[in-house]
Amino acid sequence: MSDPVNTFEAQQEGRPTGPLVQGYEVIIGFETHAQLSTASKIFSRASTAFGAEPNTQACAVDLALPGTLPVMNKGAVERAIKLGLALGSTIAPRSVFARKNYFYPDLPKGYQISQFEIPVVQGGAVSFFVGDESKTVRLVRAHLEEDAGKSLHEDFIGQSGIDLNRAGTPLLEIVTEPDMRSTAEAVAYAKELHKIVTWIGICDGNMQEGSFRCDANVSVRKPGAKLGTRREIKNLNSFKFMQQAIDYEIRWQIEEIEDGRAIQQATVLFDPDTGETRAMRTKEDAADYRYFPDPDLPPLAIAQEWIDRVKAEMPELPRAMAERYVTTHGLSAYDAAQLTQSVALAQYFDAAVAAGAAPKLASNWITGEIAKRLNAQDIGIGSAPVSATMIAALIRRISDSTISNNAAKQVFDVLWAAGEFSGAPLPAEYVARAADDLSRIDAVIEAKGLKQMSDSGALEAIIDGVLATNEKNIAEYRAGKDKAFNALVGQVMKASQGKANPAQVNALLKTKLG
Ligand code: ADP
Ligand code: MG
Repeated sequence: MSDPVNTFEAQQEGRPTGPLVQGYEVIIGFETHAQLSTASKIFSRASTAFGAEPNTQACAVDLALPGTLPVMNKGAVERAIKLGLALGSTIAPRSVFARKNYFYPDLPKGYQISQFEIPVVQGGAVSFFVGDESKTVRLVRAHLEEDAGKSLHEDFIGQSGIDLNRAGTPLLEIVTEPDMRSTAEAVAYAKELHKIVTWIGICDGNMQEGSFRCDANVSVRKPGAKLGTRREIKNLNSFKFMQQAIDYEIRWQIEEIEDGRAIQQATVLFDPDTGETRAMRTKEDAADYRYFPDPDLPPLAIAQEWIDRVKAEMPELPRAMAERYVTTHGLSAYDAAQLTQSVALAQYFDAAVAAGAAPKLASNWITGEIAKRLNAQDIGIGSAPVSATMIAALIRRISDSTISNNAAKQVFDVLWAAGEFSGAPLPAEYVARAADDLSRIDAVIEAKGLKQMSDSGALEAIIDGVLATNEKNIAEYRAGKDKAFNALVGQVMKASQGKANPAQVNALLKTKLG
C-alpha cells in the first residue's frame, strides 16, 4: 500500500456489508484502464487507430529515442477532467508525471510515463444499482498514463513478436477503494463505469479491442478481521469473463485458506478456456518501480477556467436524465433506468418524444418490441432499421385509434424487416405512396388492411348479425355469465377481421343487450 493517495486500509475494518461466502467476506477493488478516444497519442502525434499493420504507428517519441521530447496531448487531459466532473472528484490544479521503471520486451524504453504521487483526478464516487439496492463505490484516483506495446505469441512458433503500435496510447487508470463486497457488485460497478466513460465520450468502450480493461483485486477475510492478502486478476475484457474469473478466484482463495495455506500476493490471469485463474507473477511493490518525476515533462497545470469551460459542455449524465424521465414524463424508475443504458438509446427516446410520441408509449415500444429485436440481432439502437420519428408516427396512429396495438405490431414488423433487408426505409410499393414517416405508415396500414373500423353503422350491422346467431350466449350473458359476453366480443372481432375497435364493440354490445 505504498501509494500515498490510498488511505482506505484503516477504513475497511469492521462489520461485513455483503453476503458471506462459506463464512468469508469478499473484498474487491478495481483498477480500470480506459483508453482515451484521442486521435493521436498522449505525448506524440502518432495515430491511435486500432488494427494497423504492426509497428507502423509508433514514432520516435513513443519509443523515447534520444533527442525526442514528449508533449502533452491536451485532448487527453480534457477527457480526464470530464471524468472527474462526472464522478464528483477533485481535479488537481497541478499534477505530476512520473516514470515507472521496469523491463519488459514490449517496453523498450524501460519506463512507462504515468502519474504517481499527484494524480490529475482525486476522489469521487460511482453510484449504481445492484438489483434494486443502490451502492456507492468510492474512487481513490484516476491518473493519466501511456500504454505499452503488445507481445504477440500466437502467430509465431517458439518466438514472440512485438507490436509497438499501442505504445503511447493515452490511458486513464481509474482506481477504486476496496468497496465492493460481491461479484455482482463488482460487475455492476464495471458496467456503470463503462456506461459513464462512453456516455461522456472519453472512451469508445470497445472491450474486445482493449479500450476498457479491468483489473479486479480480490481478497477474502473472516468478518471483523483485517484485510486479507489480495490477488489481482489482470485485463478482464468482457463482463462475462469478469464474473467467471472473480467467482472462481473467491472459491479458490477460500479453499486455500481452509486447507491451511496462506494467500500470496500475486498477479493472475483468467483463462476463459478452463474458467480458472492462474498466477502470472508475484506482485511488485510500488517501491520496486523506482518512480521519479519525469524530467522531460513539466507539472500538468489545469486552470479553473478550463474546468469551468469543460463543465459547461458536459452532457446531462445518465442518472440526472433518468430522474428527469421520472419527474417530467411520469416513467417508472425501472423504465427510466432501461432508457438511460446508453446515450444513443436515450437520444432515440428523446427524439421519439420530440416528434410527438406519448412518452409512456414510446418507452414501452423501446424497452419492449425494439429492445427484443436489438437483443435478438445483437445490434445497438444506432443500427435499428426503424427510426425514432417512425416510431413516433406509429404511436400517433395508435393514439388516434387508427390502428389497434396488435395491428401496430404488424406494421412495425414490416418497417423493421424493410429497413433490415433492403437498407431502404420501405419496399418500393409502399415508398411510392409515402412522402414522410406518417404517410409511410399509413401506406402500410392500407396495404395490409389494418385500419380499425370507425364507421359505427357498419359495426352495428356486424353486431346485429352476431347477435342474431348466438342466442345461447345471449341467454347465458343475461343469466350473469361474463364469459358469454367475452365470447360475443370475440365473435364480433372475428367477423370484423380484427378491425373493430374493441372498446367500441364492448360499448355497443352492452347497449344492445340492455
Ligand atoms: P497496485 O495494484 O498498483 O499496487 P494499490 O495498492 O493502490 O495498487 O491497490 C490497487 C487496488 O487494490 C485498489 O483498487 C484497491 O482498492 C485494491 N485493494 C487493496 N487492498 C485490497 C485487498 N486487501 N483486497 C481487495 N482489494 C484490495
Ligand atoms: Mg494494480
